[in-house]
Amino acid sequence: VFDVSASFLNRVVYRQPRRLLHAVNDVTFDVPMGGCLSLVGESGCGKSTVAKLVTRLYEISAGEIRFAAGKSGAPLSAQMIFQDPYASLNPRWRVKNIIAEPLRELKLRDNEADIAARVAELLDIVGLNYADGEKFPHEFSGGQRQRISIARALASEPEFLVCDEPTSALDVSVQAQILNLMRRLQDELGLTYLFISHDLSVVRHMSDRIAVMYLGRIVEEAETELLFADPQHPYTQLLLQTIPNVNDPQRDREIVAGEVPSPLSPPSGCTFHTRCPLAQPRCKAERPELEHKPDGRRVACHFA
Ligand code: SF4
Ligand code: MG
Repeated sequence: VFDVSASFLNRVVYRQPRRLLHAVNDVTFDVPMGGCLSLVGESGCGKSTVAKLVTRLYEISAGEIRFAAGKSGAPLSAQMIFQDPYASLNPRWRVKNIIAEPLRELKLRDNEADIAARVAELLDIVGLNYADGEKFPHEFSGGQRQRISIARALASEPEFLVCDEPTSALDVSVQAQILNLMRRLQDELGLTYLFISHDLSVVRHMSDRIAVMYLGRIVEEAETELLFADPQHPYTQLLLQTIPNVNDPQRDREIVAGEVPSPLSPPSGCTFHTRCPLAQPRCKAERPELEHKPDGRRVACHFA
């Protein structure tokens, strides 16, 4: 849907009838143009489904997704960056052809010399060498392969990148390099990000805002530093406690108690009540709405 909203925000909205497709329900959020919104939650919470809906890899069954106009005046084009770049890079193609594919498909360059020049430029932008274009994906490390997939995503000149756990498969030090690259590209190219991760510490320095998802719903959404300083939803509070703390290693990595219930038959009322340390009888009976608060956050908890 092509929408130029007064606030010039990209608005992404889904509504799915409960019980039909189970993965996401009533998920609504704005991704500010040139900014970064992160979706965070445990696996199975529906965050990857949201990513695939936004990039049209999944069909939406009900509701709508709207994009504000991009710089060109045309609807924003979204590109996806995946967790496992190896699975999304054709192993039999040289890297230069992988990166050139969108240029050819979309006819963004009309002769081979211009295509080669653009491929060289894209390799340079992501910190790879011109000679790397002659190699095959298996000749690179995981971090370098993620650089290749970023170069390929940038080839089609997107303004909006949806990044699904782009660093989760990488070592911590390589993770930091890729995150730094993504932040630099965001600044230099004016990109807008929807960033998806199970790890709040990964998204902290990327995100303007963070939405925490649980069983297909957003349970809290707030400006990043507000969320870290003063989490209001019990699930957000527990997720923040699982972040490793250099000053108190004993406290590290305590997983939120209990299994994630099946999204096919979510608990009644507040779906978090089976794991919530603050649950009251009302929580089992009544589902809390995602309410706007005066500090600009949204939170879905009867007792927030
Ligand atoms: Fe916990 Fe109740 Fe709040 Fe749900 S509504 S998060 S169960 S206190
Ligand atoms: Mg996922």
